[in-house]
Amino acid sequence: MRIYKVGGAVRDRLLGKPVTDIDWVVVGATTEEMLAKGFRPVGVDFPVFLHPKSGEEYALARTERKSGRGYGGFTFHASPEVTLEEDLIRRDLTINAMAEDDQQNLTDPYHGQRDLEARLLRHVSPAFAEDPLRVLRVARFAARYATLGFTVAPETLELMRQLSESDELEALTPERSWKEISRALMEDQPQVFVEVLRACGALKVLMPEVDALFGVPQPPTHHPEIDTGAHTLSVLQQAAIHKQPLTVRWACLLHDLGKGLTPEQEWPRHIAHELKGLKLIKAVNERFKVPRDCQELALLVGEYHTHGHRAHELKPSTLLELLQSFDVFRRPQRFEEFIAACEMDARGRKGLEEKSYPQADYLRGAATAARNVAVQPLLEQGFKGPELGEAIKRERLKALKIYKEKA
Ligand code: ATP
Ligand code: MG
Repeated sequence: MRIYKVGGAVRDRLLGKPVTDIDWVVVGATTEEMLAKGFRPVGVDFPVFLHPKSGEEYALARTERKSGRGYGGFTFHASPEVTLEEDLIRRDLTINAMAEDDQQNLTDPYHGQRDLEARLLRHVSPAFAEDPLRVLRVARFAARYATLGFTVAPETLELMRQLSESDELEALTPERSWKEISRALMEDQPQVFVEVLRACGALKVLMPEVDALFGVPQPPTHHPEIDTGAHTLSVLQQAAIHKQPLTVRWACLLHDLGKGLTPEQEWPRHIAHELKGLKLIKAVNERFKVPRDCQELALLVGEYHTHGHRAHELKPSTLLELLQSFDVFRRPQRFEEFIAACEMDARGRKGLEEKSYPQADYLRGAATAARNVAVQPLLEQGFKGPELGEAIKRERLKALKIYKEKA
């Protein structure tokens, strides 16, 4: 048997990037031989094994043929006769279809190295169209390598467009889609992911609610960039620049969905877009079975981001309601993430990227003021049960009044 490093490990070494996980391909071996060497099988009908010591993935060289809709509709053929070139041709991009032996000799039948130099994300063969997930993967790699100057080859974008126009994208499972979306959002330039999906028509299929924001104007006084789609991309970009976690990035992507519902005659104003957007945010959350913390923050940011921007103008009672909506006394971290998302929203405006956001400290201070209300004296005064709750609320309100007057 011959063993080669493949995929991302080869690509990233040639790019001079750190290599985290290594995928291997094994040519000329049978399942029985792998088991005899102590490899552990990953699935029942999948010719992939884990190394007994390193735990890295070793896949038998295989060919694939599409036999139905979606990802389940694949038949694999793995045997000792399958060559390295045959295995590499089933891969998505030329830069992911290179292999390397233990002497670092490169096998590159589909010119991945040439495309690395040309900074092109190009599909290996027309079989690319057999797995719709590749549309998301290419958009994700575009987001990751945009900083290095990579773009999607026009002929690959065309294939992605054809895939998006067919009903194939709809056959993707929520789990597979979310895995790509969440990884893409954590890349350096997550906005490129959205741009590429939009350019090939996949955004309209996957997240029509986000696609609908493009072409929707906002008031130029607050939003010099005017277009709501452009604004959303900038907010996402700011979230990446400021190294925000996934929860915040997801909330940034969805915060303005309600603006896509505004009747044209009301443009460029978007009255009550915060509340109108909630059902759309919920729909997107459910479509991809998004993790709970991301779902929650997106909904809260959607509903309250304007409160965040107007923090200094909020009445003490409204401030308290805001803090309570976030359950800030038990979950201070989530309120911090809300503040971060509001700040990214404010910075994601043309020419205002560097403007300070004093609302952030003001909101933090309000949370602290309310949290510092001592419960002990109220207990000593004999308050119990619901009455205690009311008393705490009254004291917090008092504290917020003082806070607002001093600020
Ligand atoms: P990353 O750095 O994100 O891990 P990677 O290229 O290693 O990037 P993996 O998902 O680990 O990506 O997959 C390893 C290799 O398997 C890829 O480089 C590619 O050759 C191939 N591959 C993975 N998923 C697909 C797919 N859906 N279609 C075609 N080839 C794929
Ligand atoms: Mg990998």
